[in-house]
Amino acid sequence: MSLISIVVPMYNEEEVLAELHRQVSAELDPLPDDIEFVFVDDGSRDRSVAIATQISDADSRVRVVVLSRNFGHEAAIEAGLRESRGDAVIVMDADLQDGPDILPRLINAWHEGADVVYAVRKGRKEGRALRAAFSGFYRLAERVMSIDLPRDAGPFSLMDRRVVDVLNAMPEKGRYFPGLRAFAGFHQVGMEAERRERLAGETKYSLVKRTVGATNAIFSFSKLPLRLMTGMGFVMTALAVIGLIWVIVGTLVGADIQPGWASLMIVLLFIGATVFLFMGILGEYVGKIYDEVRGRPNYVVAEVIGDGVTPEQQPAPREAGTA
Ligand code: UDP
Ligand code: MG
Repeated sequence: MSLISIVVPMYNEEEVLAELHRQVSAELDPLPDDIEFVFVDDGSRDRSVAIATQISDADSRVRVVVLSRNFGHEAAIEAGLRESRGDAVIVMDADLQDGPDILPRLINAWHEGADVVYAVRKGRKEGRALRAAFSGFYRLAERVMSIDLPRDAGPFSLMDRRVVDVLNAMPEKGRYFPGLRAFAGFHQVGMEAERRERLAGETKYSLVKRTVGATNAIFSFSKLPLRLMTGMGFVMTALAVIGLIWVIVGTLVGADIQPGWASLMIVLLFIGATVFLFMGILGEYVGKIYDEVRGRPNYVVAEVIGDGVTPEQQPAPREAGTA
């Protein structure tokens, strides 16, 4: 019999936790596998921890990992993966946008030999502009990323223990979970799942957070922006040489060369703009290197509720996350 971990990052999700626990249990209790819940509280300011603790008191399969403050969705997922002990680990949102009804199918696919089963989002409920942005992101990702990122596959997925071990062994700080999961390889299958509406509450993702996340994802898995700079350098050099030849030859044959102010200005502005843009691109990578070498942890665990284990007693996994 296998143990399946359900990792749920939560940030101010007091309205939905009990219902999530109820629906997931209802789906999975009839299955022969054991389950454990790993609720990761990402610094909630509402009653999420209190409610999760209540759930944990009533159901010993529930552990609550409380982070010391809000570290973000990615960090919460990382913490949950490191805390999980299952032979397979499922990551799902707290807000029931990831429908628990497909959990048995995920688990079934795993029993049939898949190492990663990721949900492919069908019928998003977000607004038109946001949906267009998502689709633009996945198209760009397909073109520039060094990995095959499956389209419309977010965090919602099941992973075999050996995949989780691969992710946990990665020291990388700037994490993009769906990308790292794709990077891990093994036998991966997609499964269509309807992306539902949030059960209650508001999205915890501002547009700024989403943009930062998407930028991080691209720069984590692509060197194309850097190559673009090199390419642009070549183009500029070629143009300069052509211009030079034109001026020299023109002067020699006595043509009337009048370098106008407007054309000079355009070239100047253009070069200036490109230099700034490219410095920005370089900066993105330098920033990432800076994050990596500082080696700060992505999250700090304040306490673990349930299971009677304190953070100090916990062995290796958490050390890796906070060391
Ligand atoms: N979340 C988190 N930390 C954050 C923001 C979000 O742990 O800083 C959790 C949140 O509680 C939810 C999941 O990540 O379980 C996805 O967040 P949300 O539903 O707000 O994003 P959306 O579904 O709108 O993309
Ligand atoms: Mg959501």
